[in-house]
Amino acid sequence: MVIPTTSRQRITDALREFVIPFPLTVDSLLQAMQDQRDRPLILHREAFPSKLEQPCGLWWPDSEGRDHVWINPQAVGVQGVQSLAHELGHMLLGHPPLKELPPGLTDPTAPAAPAMPELDELMAEFTLLSPAFLDGSYLGVRTRSRDVRRDPEYILHEEEAENFGSQLRRRAMVQGRDHHNNPLLDRLHRNL
Ligand SMILES: [Zn+2]
Repeated sequence: MVIPTTSRQRITDALREFVIPFPLTVDSLLQAMQDQRDRPLILHREAFPSKLEQPCGLWWPDSEGRDHVWINPQAVGVQGVQSLAHELGHMLLGHPPLKELPPGLTDPTAPAAPAMPELDELMAEFTLLSPAFLDGSYLGVRTRSRDVRRDPEYILHEEEAENFGSQLRRRAMVQGRDHHNNPLLDRLHRNL
C-alpha cells in the first residue's frame, strides 16, 4: 500500500520532533520515549496469553494517566525496535490507543494477583477470542478478522505506524554513520 502524501508529511513532522537515541536499541528507545513524552510509560514483555493471536505490540493508557506498551517477547533486536517504534508512531501520530488492557494480559503495576490455576488460564485465552475481540474492538491488535482488515482507517493507521517505525530506524542508521565518520568522536573512541 502506498502511503498518502499527507501521511508521509505527518510522519516526517513527528520524526523531526523526536530525538532518536544512539545506539538505537529497545532499551535506549524506551528511555528516549520516557524522556521525551510527558506521560509515564511502562513496557510489558510477558508472553501473550493466546497462542492463536500474536500481535507485535499494543499500547493502552490507564486511568492514572500512564501509558503502557506491550511488545511481544519474541520480537528482539531489530524486530523489537521496530515494534516499539511502531507503537511510538501510533502515539505521535495521534492514533486512538486501546481502551483497556486486553484480557489475559496482566498489569505489573497492579497489586499481585494470586497465581492462575490452569483452568483460569484457559478461560483467559477463551476471553481473548470473544466476538468483541475478533470484531477488532481492541484497535491496534492485528487480529485476523477480515472485517478489521478491511476497515480503511484501521489499515491506514497501521501502515502509518509501521512506516514511522521504518523511517525512525533508517534515520538512526544514517545518524550512526555520521557518528562513525566524525573524526573527533573516532579519536575519542580510540583514546578510550
Ligand atoms: Zn499498530
